[in-house]
Amino acid sequence: MYTKTLHWSVWLSSVAVTATIIVGWWSVAGSDSTLSTNASVVNSHEVKVVELRGVWSGYQVKPDWDTATQKLSAANFNAVFPYVCSSGIAYYHSQVLPVSQFAQQHDYLAEAVSAAHKHNIAVHARVLALEMLFAAEQTKAAFAAAGRLMTNSQGETAPWLCPTDPRNRQLLERIVTELVTHYDIDGLQFDYLRYPGRDYCLCQRCRRQFAADTGAQISQWPQDVLPGGPGAPQFNKWRQEQLTALLSDLVAQARAARPDIVISAAVFPRWAEHSARFGQDAARWVQLGLLDFVAPMNYTADRLDFATWLLTQRKAIGGRVPLVVGMGPLSDACQFDGPEQLAEQIQIARSFGAGGFIIFKYTDQFAQEYLPYLAEDATATLASP
Ligand SMILES: [Zn+2]
Repeated sequence: MYTKTLHWSVWLSSVAVTATIIVGWWSVAGSDSTLSTNASVVNSHEVKVVELRGVWSGYQVKPDWDTATQKLSAANFNAVFPYVCSSGIAYYHSQVLPVSQFAQQHDYLAEAVSAAHKHNIAVHARVLALEMLFAAEQTKAAFAAAGRLMTNSQGETAPWLCPTDPRNRQLLERIVTELVTHYDIDGLQFDYLRYPGRDYCLCQRCRRQFAADTGAQISQWPQDVLPGGPGAPQFNKWRQEQLTALLSDLVAQARAARPDIVISAAVFPRWAEHSARFGQDAARWVQLGLLDFVAPMNYTADRLDFATWLLTQRKAIGGRVPLVVGMGPLSDACQFDGPEQLAEQIQIARSFGAGGFIIFKYTDQFAQEYLPYLAEDATATLASP
């Protein structure tokens, strides 16, 4: 924890904030001896513990990054998580990925970093790791022709990179290295580090790799590894291991290039069910120390669901890293009554000892309806004590 404490202080100094990040959980969970020790380490180094208050956003915000980050700063927020690339297109001046035509003139990430740091807002570049979202048709076709895409039980491909293909792993490593070395970003967040569903990836390379790794004898592929099949539990576990190994590689790459980089992942909320369905084993990622904090997308307007998810996530994390709660007032997944409901979720998250929150997402509506309300309510005081 000593190292991690320094880690946070480095991160903060990089955004010119003297006091630091994260977490009520250190102070709230004082009854736990381990956490109490951490709190004393924090105090002995005079590093203040503050709450992470962030927003997810697109690669661009209206009217511009300077205005948006100034507004966020005025409302006592301290972090933005812009979408910077998928595995098929970049919104920054990438030398690895095809660059979006919108980003030919603007390097959106460079603009975000420059503006955000001016207003003491940290930038966590959000990478859509395996999905080729918004990639050009010709890019997707080239990947399909090269046999690099995920395949389902019908033999159909989806525009998602198969994680067992070494070419795909190298591509992702190069993206990560490029981002952390060319941009003064404070953090890197992995999103879409998952399979699209239980029916992926069933390509021949995954079949061979699964057999080689486990020694499993599969007589009927893919029926035997699909739900209900005799090899399904083993295959499911193996699928999760593929993504965990991929994340481990990417994190090692990022930390080797930038030891101070803050690594996180945006993950689905119901970890037991979703790890089986999407191969995303967030609890394991935390156990292995791959993340500096975890951000479950707890997109619901239902109070009981929200609290239940928080409780199970907190238990799975076991105090290892901060739980930074994703909230979705403007997501497609739920309908909020208004900013009061978001303010209430923030208070609930705090009562569960969360280290902060990230809101989906920064839009005109958020800036006009939600931010002014929060500035008078849940974020009226500074994030630092
Ligand atoms: Zn595959």
